[in-house]
Amino acid sequence: MDFSLNQDQLAIQHMTRDFARKEIAPHAERLDREAEYPKQIFDKLAELGFFGMLVPEEYGGLGLDAVSYNLVLEEIARVCASVTVVLAVHNSVSCWPILHFGNRQTKEKYLPKMARGEVIGGFALTEPHCGSDASAIRTTASLDGDTYVLNGQKTFITSGSTGGVFIVMAKTDPTKGHRGISAFVVEKDFPGFSVGKHEDKMGMRASDTTELFFEDCRVPAENMLASEGKGFKVAMASLDGSRIGVAAQAVGIAQAALDEAVEYARERKTFGKALSEHGVIADKLARMKVWVETSRLLVQKAASLHDQGLPFGHVAAMAKYWGAECASKVADEAVQIFGGYGYIKDYPVERYYRDARVTRIYEGTAEIQKIVIARNLIRS
Ligand SMILES: Cc1cc2nc3c(=O)[nH]c(=O)nc-3n(C[C@H](O)[C@H](O)[C@H](O)COP(=O)(O)OP(=O)(O)OC[C@H]3O[C@@H](n4cnc5c(N)ncnc54)[C@H](O)[C@@H]3O)c2cc1C
Repeated sequence: MDFSLNQDQLAIQHMTRDFARKEIAPHAERLDREAEYPKQIFDKLAELGFFGMLVPEEYGGLGLDAVSYNLVLEEIARVCASVTVVLAVHNSVSCWPILHFGNRQTKEKYLPKMARGEVIGGFALTEPHCGSDASAIRTTASLDGDTYVLNGQKTFITSGSTGGVFIVMAKTDPTKGHRGISAFVVEKDFPGFSVGKHEDKMGMRASDTTELFFEDCRVPAENMLASEGKGFKVAMASLDGSRIGVAAQAVGIAQAALDEAVEYARERKTFGKALSEHGVIADKLARMKVWVETSRLLVQKAASLHDQGLPFGHVAAMAKYWGAECASKVADEAVQIFGGYGYIKDYPVERYYRDARVTRIYEGTAEIQKIVIARNLIRS
């Protein structure tokens, strides 16, 4: 078994780390404080091709493998997790379903401009009354000539106000449960599309999260992904891959919190010696390191299975569950090691603590991941 990265994977990891430290890290604290959307940073990421990481070269993307893609997300999350939320949603649940379930015309129309970062992509499944129970969505889509007419509301949509194209799940047959759901590519300029409330979040504050409304929103029939009734499958397949990305994001946050904690424990002295020389603190650091490493191994295993075309959904669920739990635990211990300073906004660990929290909630909560893991166990 070979745990090493190949030359291309190492190159993109080092390039991203360098870029993130120079171009993103100096702004991360301000972006969080002011909940500012970092347009200039996204423009630079677009120049690097990071809006087309999973898009093949024929559509203008980088065509990265899943291992490389998740390395990029981890490195960016180490300095500013908010930036990775936007990138991950765009690449893995917006470009990816268009690539895998769109017809040729849809791919040619959307993927090149999305890969260039000219149009940011979003994914709209969650509604005010349902998130985990996605089959209960109430947004409807009815065929009228050569267009579908969408009516309904979505909530908590990443890039809701900054995005230009959304993968929207709606019921074409409300009597058929999840088999009645279809997926559509919806442009923000389609008549009947509007953006609602902006959420004021605990963390990930530089990403925008909004409601979306569809009032007799007309979508060309050719913008349907896969076919009628296959929207749940489109959503679940997209989320399987993107959960590895949430796990990678969690690993990045956890690594950043660990790095800060180690440095502080070396410098800070209590009772005549460095914090790191107290057994209780060394024990915390050791456990934090194990949590980070085991989370990273699960991300790499899931991504590697994905790259080999092998079943990976259950490993992605484990990576997402474990990575998110560990990121919360590592960030919490980092705050503890900083003592009172951990609770103060002058130091980044409190931001890591807040940013880590949502990784246990979005793209399938911890509870839902455990259901997926257990179902797989029982089936096998
Ligand atoms: C910052 C942010 C960004 C987001 N971005 C997007 C986005 O871009 N697109 C999108 O579609 N959605 C997005 N979401 C929504 C997110 O995916 C949902 O919030 C999440 O799936 C949970 O759904 P819910 O909030 O409705 O909670 P619920 O489903 O109501 O769950 C509430 C609680 O009950 C638990 N629970 C539910 N069912 C079960 C069960 N069967 N067994 C045990 N426990 C259960 C859950 O785990 C949770 O703890 C985002 C959310 C946030 C906070």
